[in-house]
Amino acid sequence: MALTGLEIFKLLPKTNCKKCGMPTCLAFAMQLAQKRAKLDSCPDVSEAAKNTLAAAAAPPMRKVVFGSPDRQVQTGQETVMFRHEEKFYSPTVLAVTISDKLTGQDLQNRIKAINALQFERVGIKIGTRAIAVINDSGQPSAFAAAAETAAQSSPLALILVSDSPQAMAAAVAKTAKLIPLIAGATHDNAQEMAKIAKENNCPIVAKADSLESLCDLTEKIKSLGVEDVVLNLQTKSLRDKLYNLSRMRVLSLKKVFRPLGYPTISFVTGDADQQAAAAASLICKYSGIIVLDTVEPYVFLPLVTAVMNIFTDPQKPVQVEPKIYTIGEPNENSPLLFTTNFSLTYYTVESDVEASRVPSYILVVDTEGTSVLTAYSGDKLNEKIVADAMTKNKVQDLVKHRKLIIPGYVAVMSGKLEEATNWEVMVGPRESSMLPKYLKEVWK
Ligand code: SF4
Repeated sequence: MALTGLEIFKLLPKTNCKKCGMPTCLAFAMQLAQKRAKLDSCPDVSEAAKNTLAAAAAPPMRKVVFGSPDRQVQTGQETVMFRHEEKFYSPTVLAVTISDKLTGQDLQNRIKAINALQFERVGIKIGTRAIAVINDSGQPSAFAAAAETAAQSSPLALILVSDSPQAMAAAVAKTAKLIPLIAGATHDNAQEMAKIAKENNCPIVAKADSLESLCDLTEKIKSLGVEDVVLNLQTKSLRDKLYNLSRMRVLSLKKVFRPLGYPTISFVTGDADQQAAAAASLICKYSGIIVLDTVEPYVFLPLVTAVMNIFTDPQKPVQVEPKIYTIGEPNENSPLLFTTNFSLTYYTVESDVEASRVPSYILVVDTEGTSVLTAYSGDKLNEKIVADAMTKNKVQDLVKHRKLIIPGYVAVMSGKLEEATNWEVMVGPRESSMLPKYLKEVWK
C-alpha cells in the first residue's frame, strides 16, 4: 500500500538539515508521497527506512521474467484494470504443450508444429512464445529428456509442468541455463519446488484451488526465498476462472494486496474450438500466460491478433520504421514516393504500389505514427521534415532523376517542397487505391 506523506515523514531523520533541497523533512516527505522527489536525495535516511519505503513503492503486480536473454518473455507489471486508463505492459504469453510421452520423430514433429505458429501483421512478428513440457509419464528421466529436446529444438521459452520435485529437479538440471518457469508449487511440495527455483534462479508457479489457499501458498513461497511467482488458480469452469481472475486483479491493483500481486497462468483444455474460445476470454480478463494443447494455426492467428490489439499502447499508434522501403527491384529510373510512418498508411501504400507492378522506392517519413493529413495539420509533416528525411536517406544516390511523388492530400506543400529540395514534385492521387493507375500512366 502506498504510504502517505505523514507515514513517510515518520521514517525520515527529522533533522530538517535541508541537504535534500527541501526546507524541512515534512516537505520532503510530501514530495516523496507525490512521487516528485527521490529518496536518494536524503543522504541521512537509515537502511531500515529505505527498505520500508522501497517495499511500499514496489509495483502492485510483480514483473516476472523467464527464458534466457535470447528467448526471454515477461509477464505481470500491470497497473490498470482497463487499457484506456493508461496501457497494458506485458502482452499475454501464449504457450503450447508437449507431452513427455512423445519421443523421437513424434516429439520433433510436435515441436516443429509449435515453432511454426508465427505470423506477421502490419510488419510486426507475433506468435507463440513458450513451450510447456508436461510430465504426463510421471517419469523424471522422460520429463528431463523431453525438456532437453524442447530446449534444443525450439527458440521459445520453456515452462516445465510437473508436481513431482524429483521430475522437476531432473528437467531443470538439463535446462537451467534457459531459466524455465517451474510449474509448479502446491501446498504439498512447496518446500522442495521453492528450493529448486531458488537454486536455479527460476520463477515458480503457485497452484491452489481457492484464493485463500493461493495467498497462503505465495506467502510460504516468499518466505522460502523465491520472489518471482506466477499464480495458477484451479477452478471448475471458465466462468469461475474469469470471475476470480478479475477479483485477483482488483485485489492486487486496487487494494495493493501483496499475496496476490503476481501475474497469472491458465491451462485451457477441450477440443481446438473450445480452447480458442476459452483463451480469447482469458486474454481479455486477465491471464498473463495461457497454455493451450493444440497446434492448429486457425486457433492461434485470431488469438495473437487479439493480444496485439489489446496490448497496443492506445496513445501510441502502431508505427513502421522511417526509412527507404523497396517494392520489387527498383533501379535508378524507378519512381520515388513518400508517405508517413503510421503503420496502416504505410501498408496501404505498400500494397497499392505492389499492385501497380512498377518497382518503386517508398520514403517513409517519421511523423510520430500519424497519417498524412493528421501529420500535416499537426505540423509533423512539412517541407523541412521531408527534405531532411530525403537527405538522411540519401535518396539522391538511389535515383538519377529528381522527381518526388507526394500524397495528393498534401498537394498544398508542393511549392515549398520544391524550393526546399530542388526536386520536381509530382502530386500523386489522394486515395492510395488510385496509385496503380497513376504509376502506370504517369511513370513511363
Ligand atoms: Fe530531512 Fe533528509 Fe531532507 Fe535533511 S536531507 S531535511 S534529514 S529529508
